Amino acid sequence: MLIINHSQVRELLPMSDCIATVAEALAALSRGEGLQPLRDGLLLPDHQGVLAWMPGSLASGKPFGIKVLSVFDRAADFGLDSHQGGVMIFDPEQGRPLALVEAGAITAVRTAAVSALATDRIARKDASTLAILGAGTQARSHVEAMLAVRPLKQIRLWSRTTANTERLAAEQMAKHDTKIEVVADVASAVEGADIICTTTSAREPILAGELLEPGMHVNAVGASIPSMRELDVDVVRKATLFTDRRESLTNEAGEYIRALEQGVIDDDHSVTEIGEILNDAHPGRTSTREITLFRSLGLAVEDIASAQLVYERAVQRGIGTRIDFAG
Ligand code: NDP
Repeated sequence: MLIINHSQVRELLPMSDCIATVAEALAALSRGEGLQPLRDGLLLPDHQGVLAWMPGSLASGKPFGIKVLSVFDRAADFGLDSHQGGVMIFDPEQGRPLALVEAGAITAVRTAAVSALATDRIARKDASTLAILGAGTQARSHVEAMLAVRPLKQIRLWSRTTANTERLAAEQMAKHDTKIEVVADVASAVEGADIICTTTSAREPILAGELLEPGMHVNAVGASIPSMRELDVDVVRKATLFTDRRESLTNEAGEYIRALEQGVIDDDHSVTEIGEILNDAHPGRTSTREITLFRSLGLAVEDIASAQLVYERAVQRGIGTRIDFAG
């Protein structure tokens, strides 16, 4: 079995390649290929964090696997990623474990890659202004991901802790040779933006529907469990809704569940999977004034497809640490 660490994943998984890889995985999933149960997890004693496990299988004859990780908000206090663990992938013929791939890097890249894919397919073609809410790992990878799919002229960053926002803006300006403005509140970030990415661990809404303007596209990334919400129900009411997987949305997306409970939307509310657009079963955006929302929940097939690509490249280039696991 090959062990592939964080920096090796970053080297082997460029954003553009990851976008193509998750596109294939999501298109296949929407065609009914592969297996994708809902994620499960354990709230640890004293609420110090969550242990989560996400199994899945790509299409028949392709690898299957599981991502196991801890999600600890306070990991940042120790200079660590909030998502730590591994993606283990298995050979579909013999059932052999092939690789254990560091999950933090996979999660950072594949999540932003899925948002990039959604943005490419749904945001206006002329979108040039980006607002990112949050200044953590996902905010960082979303700057890179959005630049990969639209020639952005303006990027605005807002987060709860200004020092974090300023640090991220300085780091990303140096990396991408682009101007990034740090703003004091959500409204200033969002006003006139074409693309908005919400990437926070907020438990209560930070983005209100009243701030949305015609033609905007929102990637809502941060709230992964029903008790968390980054969006108020007005966002759900105003926007045409897209997601990575319908079953995950209806079971895990707090603002969608809340909007249903409050009667803001009903069970017939239109929800389109990104895979359906990729399979030409839905046109995506239908007018320049439409407000679109991509609600990302995050799927194991995205992790497994990305880990498989990393594994194949690691084998080709002789990267990683091989161990005789079966011994
Ligand atoms: P980080 O810990 O790196 O960053 C979290 C960010 O959220 C920080 O900028 C923090 O602000 C901000 N934040 C935390 N609490 C609040 C709050 N109450 N109000 C406003 N902002 C807040 O986390 P990640 O970037 O790794 O992950 C962000 C979120 O995305 C998490 O909720 C995570 O579960 C989710 N996620 C979703 C995935 C998907 O596939 N959809 C995949 C991976 C993660 P500050 O700067 O003040 O610290």
